[in-house]
Amino acid sequence: MSEDSPYRAVRQEMLELLRQRGIRSGRVLSAMARVPRERFVPESVRHLAYADRALPIGSEQTISQPFIVALMTEALALEGTESVLEVGTGSGYQAAILGELADRVVSIERHQELSARAKRVLDELGYANVTCIVGDGTQGWLDGAPYDRILVAAAAAHVPPALEEQLADRGILVIPVGSPEGQVLQAYRKSGGKLHAEPLSGCRFVPLVGAQD
Ligand code: SAM
Repeated sequence: MSEDSPYRAVRQEMLELLRQRGIRSGRVLSAMARVPRERFVPESVRHLAYADRALPIGSEQTISQPFIVALMTEALALEGTESVLEVGTGSGYQAAILGELADRVVSIERHQELSARAKRVLDELGYANVTCIVGDGTQGWLDGAPYDRILVAAAAAHVPPALEEQLADRGILVIPVGSPEGQVLQAYRKSGGKLHAEPLSGCRFVPLVGAQD
């Protein structure tokens, strides 16, 4: 992002807040410094783009708050060589962050209009390693499987079986698990064909809606 961006100061404030809230990964913080979050939010709320809160993006969906994006991304421990599946493209912002930090990203969204808008912004910003798919992410996306990392950006009662199957051994899956009223963000590591959970934080996401939700 250019130094004369009118969003420079608020972006710095966001980064400072993320550090204060415990985000330590320099790679994640740098990615969040590079991606212009204002491009992914509707004009009506653009002045709030860097506030630490979720914002409406249409179709009754939201772009996640920066802290949750940072926490989920940090938990994926991306080094740059990974293939990543994201379920819930929404605005495309999280997909851009993943595109900065991984080798390739497949992002699935059930709302066609959200996917189309996200794809347009991602293309304009040059994220050639991010592929946007319209579909039911609870079934994963077999064409790209297995994935080294999976990030689910909507709340589920349990891990959808297809996602567990499509996660590579020693892979990491981050997903909010719980009821519609509140969830725990869980980071699962797969080893020996089994998932081992590590709770990260309480959270509140819009629901995952699909055949295996
Ligand atoms: N990652 C997004 C971003 O950066 O803006 C925010 C995602 S929003 C909190 C959750 C998204 O998950 C919504 O856009 C919703 O339509 C989508 N969603 C819910 N169930 C889904 C499913 N089964 N497959 C794909 N997308 C789904």
